[in-house]
Amino acid sequence: MPGFADRLNGIAISASAAMTDKASALKAQGVKIVSLSSGEPDFPTPGHVVEAAIVAARGGDTKYPPQDGKPALKKAVQNKFLRDNNLRYELDEILIANGAKQIIYNAMMATCNPGDEVVLPTPYWISYADIARLGGARIVQVPCPAGNDFRLSASDLEAAITPKTKWLVLNFPNNPTGACCPRQDLEDIAAVMMKHPHVWILTDDIYEHLIYDEFEFRTLAEIEPRLKDRVLTVNGVSKAYAMTGWRVGFCGGPRDLIAAMNNMQGQATSGINTIAQAAAIAALEGPQDYLKDRAREYQARRDLVVGLLNAIPGLRCHTPQGAFYVYPEIGACLGKTTKGGRRIETDTDFVMALLEEQQVATVQGAAYGMSPFFRISYATDTDTLREGCRRIAEFVSSLT
Ligand code: PMP
Repeated sequence: MPGFADRLNGIAISASAAMTDKASALKAQGVKIVSLSSGEPDFPTPGHVVEAAIVAARGGDTKYPPQDGKPALKKAVQNKFLRDNNLRYELDEILIANGAKQIIYNAMMATCNPGDEVVLPTPYWISYADIARLGGARIVQVPCPAGNDFRLSASDLEAAITPKTKWLVLNFPNNPTGACCPRQDLEDIAAVMMKHPHVWILTDDIYEHLIYDEFEFRTLAEIEPRLKDRVLTVNGVSKAYAMTGWRVGFCGGPRDLIAAMNNMQGQATSGINTIAQAAAIAALEGPQDYLKDRAREYQARRDLVVGLLNAIPGLRCHTPQGAFYVYPEIGACLGKTTKGGRRIETDTDFVMALLEEQQVATVQGAAYGMSPFFRISYATDTDTLREGCRRIAEFVSSLT
């Protein structure tokens, strides 16, 4: 065989995608799976958004778009940053890409050189690590322990920064823990970052609208304007507007960084799908009130799941204030054996046995850099959540 690039060494399909594939394969064999592994809203894309796409397609909005995004979408993003985040970005400080994922990819590929370090508060969304590695960088983990509600301590952060640090990546509300970053934490993080002007900061705010218990979301560039020329504020329509399949992400950041990222994107994908851009404009400029209704619905699901999980002896589940994930701790299950004779030494053993023996799909904490935990997505209906938790309870209580 002719062979593959070295840059792919150690890069694998993500664990949540692998779990979703495995669960789909079992489903195809007729096995009834309770799927709690997928990080996407179960709500449909709003009707007015779909309608805008249809109108765009019918109206001939089907030619190559500008590489950095249609001016009308960039204006909608500009207004969004002002409205929601009190941030003023000029149009040449905004980039539109195929999802927040491509924004992150563009950013790392446009800036990282071999030997650079990317600081990741841990646990983290796995793609940050793999994208940074594709860019030749090394990952530096900063544990955000369960005992601190999975929050990032400013002193731990400071200890992780070296002359080689290229990026700090912040993601609150967090995937996989749902942890949020209170204003005081952000101020402390900002104070640390003011001392290290050689570091870019990426804040991935994709779960901004999924917040509970009156939590007030704030983003770093808003809290500390003096950092704005080093902060890339990343967001997208996937999670808030239930538009995962439309593939629209956006960011605001310093002009030179945006230009370098646009250069990167130009050699990969060019401007994104025109029809999806029309849909994204409708999402960002249309009514916003239903976002709060959906957040209330997610909060009720969170309460249900946290209650059911904490009633299971052997599991410990915190109560997160954002996103649609919980990250229960399973230390008490390690070293035990399942009904089917499988030994549980790691959280990967745990989720695999849970899938095989109770047909519940979740994702192991190892995939996010912190064990022994597993991630449950509660972006699904309450009947599925109840049944999933019932099966998890049966599984854990049968361990010997
Ligand atoms: N950031 C985080 C933290 C995510 O969880 C996800 C989706 N799993 C993304 C970014 C990707 O979003 P998009 O669909 O906009 O590429």
